[in-house]
Amino acid sequence: MRVLITGGAGFLGSHLADHFLGQGHKVIVIDNLLTGSLDNIAHIFKHPGFSFIKADVTNYIHVPGRLDAVLHFASPASPIDYAHFPIPTLKVGALGTHKALGLAKDKRAVFMLASTSEVYGDPLVNPQPESYWGHVNPIGPRGVYDEAKRFAEAMTMAYHRFHKMPVRIVRIFNTYGPRMRRKDGRAVPNFITQALKGRPLTVYGKGGQTRSLCYVSDLVRGIALLLESKINAPVNIGNPHELTVKRLAQTVIRLADSRSRIAYKPLPVDDPKVRRPDIRLARAALGWKPEVGLEEGLRRTIDHFRS
Ligand code: UDP
Repeated sequence: MRVLITGGAGFLGSHLADHFLGQGHKVIVIDNLLTGSLDNIAHIFKHPGFSFIKADVTNYIHVPGRLDAVLHFASPASPIDYAHFPIPTLKVGALGTHKALGLAKDKRAVFMLASTSEVYGDPLVNPQPESYWGHVNPIGPRGVYDEAKRFAEAMTMAYHRFHKMPVRIVRIFNTYGPRMRRKDGRAVPNFITQALKGRPLTVYGKGGQTRSLCYVSDLVRGIALLLESKINAPVNIGNPHELTVKRLAQTVIRLADSRSRIAYKPLPVDDPKVRRPDIRLARAALGWKPEVGLEEGLRRTIDHFRS
């Protein structure tokens, strides 16, 4: 295959690039490097099957030659990133998805949208099945990301229904692993950086809110299976092991052999109180389930941050 990955210089996009190159496919990455980094793709830059285009996918995109799959993974993706870049976040989810769909249609390629558990907002149902419509504040600070992704899903389904295009929508739950930016503001990189420096771990609120963390290699495997499938509808990919943020902080302190303590900070606006994927669809239709446990994944990530 010739696979185009928008946002391919980001955390997930670059792991996907590694995966598809490893399978013998050709990979083209488009990234504007707003939150992505060339460091993430430095090791594959000279690979004969790899090419990089620095461009903003909210503008018209042209890619010469055949394409078999277009994976739209470009977007700021952490709460502080979309607070810093609210308008680019809305634009890449809306205009960028439109451009990427248009390109996929022109090339008769399969289109895949990187969607998110944020489409469920601050959920009133736990765990969240794909059939849950969500509970999103459209005008809050997180709304720029949540609504952009909800619009992106709507646009993707419209292209599927109207143009009969093959589409895949992966609803990605909190994912972590090597190549997360140290300063992206998310819980895992914050806690690991703080624990390794012996600084207090900043737990927001009382830390009773829950998340379910998926190691990046499990996510990549799920995405590859979904791409090969025939499911033209959203599929949750995430690890259903749910824990409180406080427990996560304590676990990082222990695994990093750190003497850090916990410092409680104000809870961000609209911070979801619970989050856990219902993965029955992925299990049944893709035969997928996560394999890397939390402690193993955190150990690998801590080693990466240490180095
Ligand atoms: N969080 C925290 N301390 C931090 C960063 C995040 O307590 O230094 C909390 C955050 O409020 C949320 C959870 O950890 O409840 C996960 O946050 P993250 O930004 O990783 O992802 P989210 O699921 O909110 O998109």
